[in-house]
Order: sequence, then C-alpha cells, then structure tokens
Amino acid sequence: MAQITTDVLIVGTGPAGSATAALLSTYGIANMAINRYRWLANTPRAHITNQRTMEVLRDLGRDVEAEAYMHATPQELMGENVFCESLAGEEIGRLKTWGTHPLSQAEHVLSSPTRMNDLPQTFMEPLLFKTACSRGTQARMSTEYIGHEQDSEGVTTTCRDRLSGETFTVRSKYLVGADGGNSAVAEHAGIPFEGRMGVGGSMNILFRADLSRYVAHRPSVLYWVMQPGADVGGIGMGLVRMVRPWYEWLIVWGYDINQPAPVVDAAMATQVARQLVGDPELEIELLSANTWTVNNMYATRMHAGRVFIMGDAAHRHPPSNGLGSNTSIQDGFNLAWKLAAVIRGQAGPRLLESYSAERAPVARQIVTRANQSIAEFGPIFKALGMAEGVRPEIMQKNLEARCDATPEAERQRAAIREAIAFKKYEFDAHGVEMNQRYRSDAVETDGQIEPAFELDAELHYQPTTWPGARIPHVWVYEHGTGAKHSTLDLCGKGRFTIFTGIGGEAWEAAARSVGAEFGLDIAVRLIGPRRAIEDLTGDWARAREIGDSGCILVRPDHHVAWRAEAMTADPAADLRRVLAKILAR
Ligand SMILES: Cc1cc2nc3c(=O)[nH]c(=O)nc-3n(C[C@H](O)[C@H](O)[C@H](O)COP(=O)(O)OP(=O)(O)OC[C@H]3O[C@@H](n4cnc5c(N)ncnc54)[C@H](O)[C@@H]3O)c2cc1C
Repeated sequence: MAQITTDVLIVGTGPAGSATAALLSTYGIANMAINRYRWLANTPRAHITNQRTMEVLRDLGRDVEAEAYMHATPQELMGENVFCESLAGEEIGRLKTWGTHPLSQAEHVLSSPTRMNDLPQTFMEPLLFKTACSRGTQARMSTEYIGHEQDSEGVTTTCRDRLSGETFTVRSKYLVGADGGNSAVAEHAGIPFEGRMGVGGSMNILFRADLSRYVAHRPSVLYWVMQPGADVGGIGMGLVRMVRPWYEWLIVWGYDINQPAPVVDAAMATQVARQLVGDPELEIELLSANTWTVNNMYATRMHAGRVFIMGDAAHRHPPSNGLGSNTSIQDGFNLAWKLAAVIRGQAGPRLLESYSAERAPVARQIVTRANQSIAEFGPIFKALGMAEGVRPEIMQKNLEARCDATPEAERQRAAIREAIAFKKYEFDAHGVEMNQRYRSDAVETDGQIEPAFELDAELHYQPTTWPGARIPHVWVYEHGTGAKHSTLDLCGKGRFTIFTGIGGEAWEAAARSVGAEFGLDIAVRLIGPRRAIEDLTGDWARAREIGDSGCILVRPDHHVAWRAEAMTADPAADLRRVLAKILAR
C-alpha cells in the first residue's frame, strides 16, 4: 500500500516539471512534484525566452507574465550579436538578432501579444515553481526518484527522502519524468532514443565583473569570441554571455571531449575570462564553474503506458538557438490539459498518445537544429582562413588582409558578411520557435490542403488556422469599452474555445449542448460588429481563413483542433463527432 497518493507525480522541478505542475494545479488536478536537490536552478543556464513560452506564462495568468518581464532583460538589449577577437579587441562583424532587426521585429510584433526576453533560469524556475505551489502542487525538495512500476490502474513510484534517508512510495494515475538530460524515469520506462550523448565538451564560468565599457554601446546577450581553441568542443565558438547587464556573465568555452574534463578552478576561470574579454588585468568575482557535454539525442516516443517524459529528458541538445527550456515548458503545455481531461473523465486515455505524436517530432526538430547551428559556425572560421584551427598570427594576417583594396579581400569581406548573416538560423529563427503544427488524432483536418510555407519555415512564422497550427494572434476589441484582447487571450486557460462570427450563433447552442454531454465548458467567441468582441481592424477576418458563420475549435493549448468554413447543416452533430474523435471517446 503506497504511503502517498496523487493524480500526477512529476519528477523534477526544472522548467518542464514546474511548468507542468503549475498548469495542472491551475486546472485543478492534484499533483506532486519532487526534486532531488534542496534548491531550484542554481546557475542561470537557460535564458532566451521566446514568444511561445511567454504565451504559456500569459495563459497561466497576467501576473505570471508580468513577473517574468519584471525580472527579464528586455528584448531591445538582446540583439547586437557580436563576433570579435575579444571584447576589447577588434570586432569582426555583428548580426541583429532575437527579433531586434526592424524586419524581424515587425514579424514578432505581428505574431504574438508577448515579447521575447532574456530571463535566466534562476528567475524562470522559481516563478513557475512558486506558481505551482501557490496553486496547490505538493512539492517535496531533497526527494529523489528511485524507480517505478506501472499496472493497468496507475504507477507506484519509490522515492527516497534525502534528509532522513527513508524510502517511501507514491501511487499516482500518471508519472511525468521531467528529470533532465540523465533521466532515470526515461531509462526505467524503456523510452527509445536516437542520437548520441557527449559529442562535445563544454565549460561554464559564471562570474561578476563590470564589462560596461566593452558592451554597453552594442547591447547583446551573446558576444562570440574567436581565440585559439574557440573551435574545439563547446557550442561553436567561445562565448561571453550576459546574465545581468552588464555586471554578471557566463563564459561558455569548449574542451576536447576525447580528453578528461578539465578542472575549472579560480585560476583557470580567471585566465579564460581575461583571454576572452581581452583584458590581462581583469579581476573577476567567480561565482561558479562546471563542465558539461554537448548532446545530440532525442526520444522517438515520449511515453510508455502511464509514464511520460518531457524537457531535457526527451530532447538533449546544446543551448544553440535557446530552445531547451522553451521547448520543455511547451511540452508541459501540450501534456497538462490532456492529463486533466483524461483524469476528469472528459477524454479517453488514448488522447494521451497524441502527446508523443505531437511533441516527438518537435524534439527531433530542435535537437537537429541546435546541433546544426554549431556546425554553421564553420563558414565564419573558413572565411577568416581558420578552417584548420584558430592561430592568432594567421587570424591577424587575415583580419588585416580583409582591409585591402584587392579582389581577394573583397571576396573575403563578402564571405565573412555572408557567413555571419547565415547565423540567423541560430539567432533569429522565429519559424523554429513559432511554426509548430501538430499532426495526431487530437486534431481533425477539414479536408483542405495544408498551406505551404511561403517563406523559409525556420526563419519566418506563418500564421494559419489549419487544424494543428496554433491560432493566429490578432488584436480584437471589446464592444463598448474598446478594451483590446489578443485572440490568444480569448482561448486557452484549460478550456476548449469556439471562434465564430455573425451567422455562427448556432455554434453557441451546439457548444452548450455538446459541451454538457462531454462535461466540457466550451467558451464561444462570436466576433463581429455590435457583438461582445469586434474586429475593428479586419485583422481577424484576414487571419481566420473561414467565413463569418464558420467555426474554429481551439484546444486549451491554443492549437486549432478543427475548423468549418461556414455554418454546417447540423453543427451539434459535427461538434459531437469532432470532439468524440479528438477526445478519444
Ligand atoms: C549554458 C546553457 C545555456 C542554455 N541556454 C538556454 C536558452 O537560452 N534557452 C533555453 O530554452 N534553454 C537553454 N538551455 C537549456 C536549458 O537549461 C534546459 O533545456 C532546461 O533546463 C531543461 O529543463 P528540464 O526541466 O527538462 O530539466 P532540468 O532543468 O535539467 O531539470 C531537471 C530536474 O529534475 C530533477 N531531478 C533529476 N533527477 C532526479 C531524481 N532522480 N529525483 C528527483 N529529481 C530529479 C533535478 O533536480 C531538476 O529539478 C541552456 C543550457 C545551458 C547549459
């Protein structure tokens, strides 16, 4: 007999586990989260926080979203991605990144009610964890997952209280392994993986030093430094990353994975910092240093029976593109409403299989993209004549040669320019962040052909209401008060929502009657002149891809479940059919 019972046991309180706990508690589902350590993130690893993640935080509440912005470095200080021989040395070039180029900025503003920002994991994790705990998550720190057994009714998990050394068992309906890149839950559940761990060696050096004089005139999150060894291991090049402008920094520097990991002591950390900053007198206040490995591995299935994995447990990759914690939180947004629907009896257990069908392709995509981004530093080295390794004398020679008035120098300048511009696939890949379209049994297509991407799908987000895509964001207005709301604000929050327009009133009646049959409270947003919500700019009519009387059924995670071009002969029957399929009833 287990000592503790709950509906969902979550192993790990990182971004994935804390987000899932916060969402489940918000949906009113009993859950417990455990963490083997007594602290939350104690280093600021993840930081780039993309718009889709901010939409999840906004869905958790405007207070949660506001607190994230309060602690974050704003987007306008993120963008001047600099490539240099050292912070004090010559700048080779730069790239406007993270939605700060005016063209990219316009796409960001048009895509979402939220803004990209830089929120170190030391702020994000406590925010999510606090939200979870304040909404009812039972959280236990210093509590280690040991193993689990599942049967047809649930999962029995053995844990160890690391304070007392005692073991105890937790009985839950479902177990979520959000236990990071060395996930024991994934291993015990027999989750299949593809790829390789440990393809490169890397070290983090976290320190305080006022570097304003080198950076404040070219504000950025990332300063890329070409020094001898910059092409060995690591994430493509030596990196000085802003943690707090401009006094707290994280250096990421590689080492040869075929050699033993170096011991990063204060002397070595200071030497690396001086080398990358380019100031031999620099004094740093070392906060921490550690080594880690670059991985290239993803789960091809993200569940085994009643056990689910998410976050780094499922996708293990370098920090390139800043996708790790973002994808982890978004995994939670996909799974939490499904667990809630099944636990409440609104959906059949088969709905949960759609989690893997929808998120495993994302895991594969982001692991592949992040590793490819490392390789895409190659052309910069090559353009500077350092394909065989960074040698200061050759680098100096080539930096000088590029200033000549010769055809070769002109070609070299062009090659450097193009190689740096190409890095937008790492630093401005808005499509990778926003274009996720799901294919699974939890989506019902309407017989239409999927809209092809008109622009590069990695770089540009393309809105569509094609079933499986996230509902496009546009601003619409409250009749009478004029208060503006994003279409994303009008859906989500644990509920299914129907968007319709004038002539679509019968969808309201259908939502009421069919919702009652399924035990669902389906929200209906009828948008039109003199209705509660008005489309004053016409943006919604242009974005929705259906007629006024049609219907877009949106899942609690903002993704379109189904749509109808116009009012159908029997809207209740259609809604019943579609919901029965989506909810596996
Ligand atoms: C230098 C660096 C920069 C990065 N930059 C970014 C970025 O800009 N943007 C981005 O999105 N991502 C970034 N990442 C990646 C990001 O940090 C991870 O993807 C993210 O932390 C994964 O979250 P998670 O919740 O899946 O796992 P983790 O954060 O690893 O959390 C795992 C949790 O499980 C717990 N746990 C593990 N084993 C057990 C056990 N047996 N019992 C109980 N608890 C256990 C741990 O204590 C922890 O609470 C970066 C990473 C690094 C190293």
